[in-house]
Amino acid sequence: MTTVVRGGDLVDGRGTEPRRGVDVVIEGDTVREVVEPGHGEYPSARVVEAAGMLVLPGLINHHSHGTAFGPLFPSGHEPLPFAQVKANLDRHLLEGTTTLLCVDGFITAEAAARTDEAHPVNVKAASCNTPACLEAATITDGGGLADEHRAFTARRAVAEGAVALGEIGSGHTLGGGGASYLYIPREIARRTGVTVPAVRANDLKVAVLGRHISTAAFDRDAVEEALAAAGLTGKLSVEDAREIVSGVVLPGFDIALRGLAEAADLGRELDVPVLVHNAAASMSQVARLAGRDVRLVAGHSNHPSFTPREAVEHAERLKERGVVVDVSVLDTFGGVRPHLKDLLFALFEAGLVDTISTDYAAGHHDPVLLAVDRATRAGVVGLPAAVAMATSAVADAFPGLAPRRGRIEPGAVADLVVTSPAALENVRTVMIGGEVVVREGRLVADEASHDR
Ligand SMILES: [Zn+2]
Repeated sequence: MTTVVRGGDLVDGRGTEPRRGVDVVIEGDTVREVVEPGHGEYPSARVVEAAGMLVLPGLINHHSHGTAFGPLFPSGHEPLPFAQVKANLDRHLLEGTTTLLCVDGFITAEAAARTDEAHPVNVKAASCNTPACLEAATITDGGGLADEHRAFTARRAVAEGAVALGEIGSGHTLGGGGASYLYIPREIARRTGVTVPAVRANDLKVAVLGRHISTAAFDRDAVEEALAAAGLTGKLSVEDAREIVSGVVLPGFDIALRGLAEAADLGRELDVPVLVHNAAASMSQVARLAGRDVRLVAGHSNHPSFTPREAVEHAERLKERGVVVDVSVLDTFGGVRPHLKDLLFALFEAGLVDTISTDYAAGHHDPVLLAVDRATRAGVVGLPAAVAMATSAVADAFPGLAPRRGRIEPGAVADLVVTSPAALENVRTVMIGGEVVVREGRLVADEASHDR
């Protein structure tokens, strides 16, 4: 069957200037050609009208959590319910993502394949199942790890289809976001009955251990302030807070740092990319690994624990040594932390960004195309370059993730997005392998079930 995506402005993922008003001709699941309107006759073709719209390659997102069946996060947390995983996949698809790398890291090949079959989005797995990473996960959480997960090593995962190692280290095992929104609030609630929001728990964590996670950073006054801000004065003493935060963060921390080195060695041996948790707490270790002969991807180089200047200088050093510098959208625009935008834009402006992903942000990530929209409007990055960062650059950085995808060119798999130039996040149509899976901004699968 022939499909023509007609008359759209094409940003083809290669980083070159848009082509105005062209027809993308798709034969089966493959792009056959891109032609000027009126060139090429396809009388029986199905037409997807795209006049006045932008046509982009389907997005490839290499940093997602909660997008496959099995233990959540590289801390081996209890799995999300089936329906929540499906809802997460739906959301990524509606945002224009056609290929996802789930970096929860303890997913089995069987579970990854089952997820991939259950949903139109292409889902691939990464593994973090090295001895030290498993140990760090077990100490920090491990509540979702059954024997089959423990036994499913990274080596075996790669042999059975995992395309990368990752996420190596995480906000859960390295005292980052996972500690702030999950484990510290949980322990405080257990002791006091008070539910503390993530930002307050994060302030407490920084007061006890600093941004770089060090016992030397302990600041009694700052802890008192953070306790007061969280409504915990009289409920927890400064020493209690120190014990809670240290007890959550420190036991697995050095082991998780060791896991980064271990994974870099294994990634070199298996010749797969290694996605590392890049944050203030892990930056020295990541910089050390950057010198080694391994394909390193520095995940979320705009991590909230960095200052903008620190993030830029660190990313410069990494890039000099051939590391792929990734930024994650997180909840930069919809969230409550205004400095996230400064971090993201500083890296764009410095020309340091190679790839864009979402990460998870406690489940509240913004769409990649929202970030592209805001960043291009702010003038910190050009549209063709930004689109390449979310498509072809990701396919190139992770060779097994999306072969023949990430560019709209003859011979490519026909994954594409039709969206509004006035608001890029307003995705209208998504095609995967030549099939329309989102129409008028709604899932085709839902339309079918509503019709019944
Ligand atoms: Zn991370």
